Amino acid sequence: MDEDRSASHDLMQRWELTVDRLIVHAARWHGSRELVSRAADGSITRTTYADVEQRARRFSSALVAAGIGRGSRIATLAMNSARHVETWFGVMGIGAVCHTVNPRLFEEQLAYILNDAGARWLVADPQFAALVDKLRPQCTALEKIVYLCERDQMPAGQRDAVDYEALIAAAARDCRWGDFDEHTAAALCYTSGTTGHPKGVLYTHRSEVLHTLITSQGGMVGMSAEDRLLMVVPMFHANGWGIPFAAAAAGATLVLPGPRLDPVSLFELLEGERVTYSAAVPTVWQLLLDHLSANGLRLSTLKRVLIGGSACPLALIRGFRDEHGVDVVQGWGMTEMSPVGTVSTAVPEVAALGVEERLSYAAKQGRVPFGVDMKITDDDGTTLPHDGQRAGHVRVRGPAVIARYFKHDGPDPLDPDGYFDTGDIGTIDAHGYLQITDRAKDLIKSGGEWISSVEIENVVAGHPKALMAAVIAIPHPKWRERPLLVVRLKPGVSATREEFLGFLEGKIARWWMPDDVLFVDEMPLGATGKLDKKRLRARFAAGPGDSVGSDR
Ligand code: ADP
Repeated sequence: MDEDRSASHDLMQRWELTVDRLIVHAARWHGSRELVSRAADGSITRTTYADVEQRARRFSSALVAAGIGRGSRIATLAMNSARHVETWFGVMGIGAVCHTVNPRLFEEQLAYILNDAGARWLVADPQFAALVDKLRPQCTALEKIVYLCERDQMPAGQRDAVDYEALIAAAARDCRWGDFDEHTAAALCYTSGTTGHPKGVLYTHRSEVLHTLITSQGGMVGMSAEDRLLMVVPMFHANGWGIPFAAAAAGATLVLPGPRLDPVSLFELLEGERVTYSAAVPTVWQLLLDHLSANGLRLSTLKRVLIGGSACPLALIRGFRDEHGVDVVQGWGMTEMSPVGTVSTAVPEVAALGVEERLSYAAKQGRVPFGVDMKITDDDGTTLPHDGQRAGHVRVRGPAVIARYFKHDGPDPLDPDGYFDTGDIGTIDAHGYLQITDRAKDLIKSGGEWISSVEIENVVAGHPKALMAAVIAIPHPKWRERPLLVVRLKPGVSATREEFLGFLEGKIARWWMPDDVLFVDEMPLGATGKLDKKRLRARFAAGPGDSVGSDR
């Protein structure tokens, strides 16, 4: 029995880990720091953390007045802007659930997701009005549409929709936030999943705040009040990698590009807003670096980029470092992990290596922070050693890792030890660095052995004529599957199959050599801007017959 439990147990304060505390902190201690938003027409508006907090509270009041309360789902269909950040905090502050929806999904997927979530309000950018019009009759739970704009910017023919500015202007200034259990749901995000319908991941206030603290640790993605962060990764992509929360915690200036994600616009913002730090998927950076080198442009203020969402080719890391003096930090994770799982910063053993070896570590997915527990296993669930050789299923657990999908009564996604199978295949080396060799669903199994499409793609990305590369499995009568290399060349260059196969010679195992090389005008990109291998496979399933052509 405890000796004197009341004298020794739980003597520290109850301070529920709720996300409203993040914006309250930013408003109080970094109140004048800016959020810079770019609209579709290119115009720029500036606001501050203090303003964002006040306007978010007004949005909360409007929600409460309409009977929205704890647990109600409010969907957002919007690009990155200060108004979108306000709606996040406004919704979550009262214990309602902010359900970010990706406007790049197909209409049927969007309708499915909104209905599965039972979204009561839809908060959208005016540019998505046509899409909203199509979705509305299909989503019966929707009570109200709010457009993130002023009255005179309202899309035509939206008689019963309201503009955000009028809504918050008419709402009470004060609305009480927090005051609920940290396990209360805060946000909902759907992942494409491997089979069937998209599945919802329901984050809690506690998991969001802990994820913020996990990623803010030294040696992680940590930013500071000195950073001016261009957030290219959309807020609907897995919590915007947690950046709106982490930036508020640090008091970093946020630069929000709206819908303008093309290289010309991004370069303007990077230079015009003296951006020091930025985050996006590799395809965005590949297009930007290509634009810079084609036009002889230099980045003058950027110090660091966080690259994640899919594997970051070594050539991209080199391009940033050698031509612009920018450090690349690679992050790996997934929606089910809130999403950050590992980050490729250096430990002393790696920092002490020569330049080339250090770079090869930057191209790995990285090490886990405190707060993420990871192992790799064979098909039977037996843990594999950290030898950098044996690839296995990557499994994780932690306070910001999913326990169960939203409304899902399928099989338990956790193994008996409580680990979640990420669906990724990788190795872990002696320094603890994870290297993803494939997604289980993209694996190429040739003659019973795995071929890493990611490794081949990374080598091809170093070819001076390649803009993007994908390696996919095509059926083979003898080996079951063989790799096919698909390349999008840089504008204005031509190349041969032999040139690429010759380039791979000696850099990969001989039996990994792709059976063929195809050149395409466009690579199909998925809804989060990553290469969509499923569509490539569908296109080339019957073999490489249809070679050049544009796709989407
Ligand atoms: P979606 O399935 O819609 O792409 P996520 O955005 O959650 O959903 O994607 C998570 C997946 O993206 C991971 O399981 C992994 O396969 C891939 N991924 C993310 N970051 C990296 C990275 N740095 N390197 C390789 N793969 C990555």
